[in-house]
Amino acid sequence: MQPRPLRTTVIGSYPMPCWLECATTQLDRFGAADLTELREDAVVVAVHDQCAAGLDVITDGEQSRFDFNLSFYGYLDGICLEATPPRRFGPPAHDQRGRHAVLSELEAPRGLGAVDEFRRLRKVAPVGPVVKASVPGPYTLSGRLIPNQQYPDRYALTEALLPIVRRELEHLVDAGCEELAVDEPSMSCYGATEDVARLVDIFNRTVETVTGRCRLSTHLCFGNYKGHPVGRRSYAALFPEFTQLAVDEIHVEMANREFAELEIVETIARDKDVAVGIIDVKSYYIETPEDVVERTRRCLQYVPAEKLALAPDCGLGQTARWAARKKLASLVEGVQRVRDS
Ligand SMILES: [Zn+2]
Repeated sequence: MQPRPLRTTVIGSYPMPCWLECATTQLDRFGAADLTELREDAVVVAVHDQCAAGLDVITDGEQSRFDFNLSFYGYLDGICLEATPPRRFGPPAHDQRGRHAVLSELEAPRGLGAVDEFRRLRKVAPVGPVVKASVPGPYTLSGRLIPNQQYPDRYALTEALLPIVRRELEHLVDAGCEELAVDEPSMSCYGATEDVARLVDIFNRTVETVTGRCRLSTHLCFGNYKGHPVGRRSYAALFPEFTQLAVDEIHVEMANREFAELEIVETIARDKDVAVGIIDVKSYYIETPEDVVERTRRCLQYVPAEKLALAPDCGLGQTARWAARKKLASLVEGVQRVRDS
């Protein structure tokens, strides 16, 4: 059971401050100590904004990754980083990101960097809000690697990455991480055409050594590359199998999908907590606290407050910071009104 009824939480990413985005275009001008300072300052900004909103759970905003999973590839031995993407111009979409060739055995002798991120977050976060770390799962990470003779398909790549991710999760828990999100957006985006039970098995083997050692959650994402989803945005094909995911909390996107399939939260809540996305990260309509009250009450028709958390639909990393701040403020204020009523 979650620590507080109607908990307010977030998915990993938060918009980069403008100066950080500018800095990332000229990283070669910075020394190692400058980069350490740059990353820490960026996390201070993300933590500040989330705390100012009054969230119960905060993240580091993935400020040092500069992209949801790009940075993890930088820690992998055995790959050749980023081939030229198939499309470089035109409207933004997933095909503007390249895939990486695999040259030899996949290994991550230095881990995947998430432990340092967690330590940095703990260092700058005030006492009060819960700090959450998030790591992409192996199926999602395999999506941008090109199969070869050694790893002939996506599942072979996934199996090679699985122990690497599992070890990272163990190290996070050993470092004191008490709340951990393992996200597999590729599973929710493409699960409808895959063997869903096989995906659940992959997920559960990834988290098996940390289950019960921390609060585990997962975000069933339909993609948010520059504000654009991908895949068929329906949860129907994933359930009931996904109720077997070995997590304490499942997060679902509802705001941008106009609360389609909201009844799925009742199914999830039978033996887990549910976090519901009630803030649309892809729209510049700023939800009011009244909207949040109405949406929270709608969720309460299916899930008791003890099991319900409220959140944005996805990470806010692709939403302008001014809008992200206002949306989080409305989220917290609206939920508080429901608590007070
Ligand atoms: Zn998402």
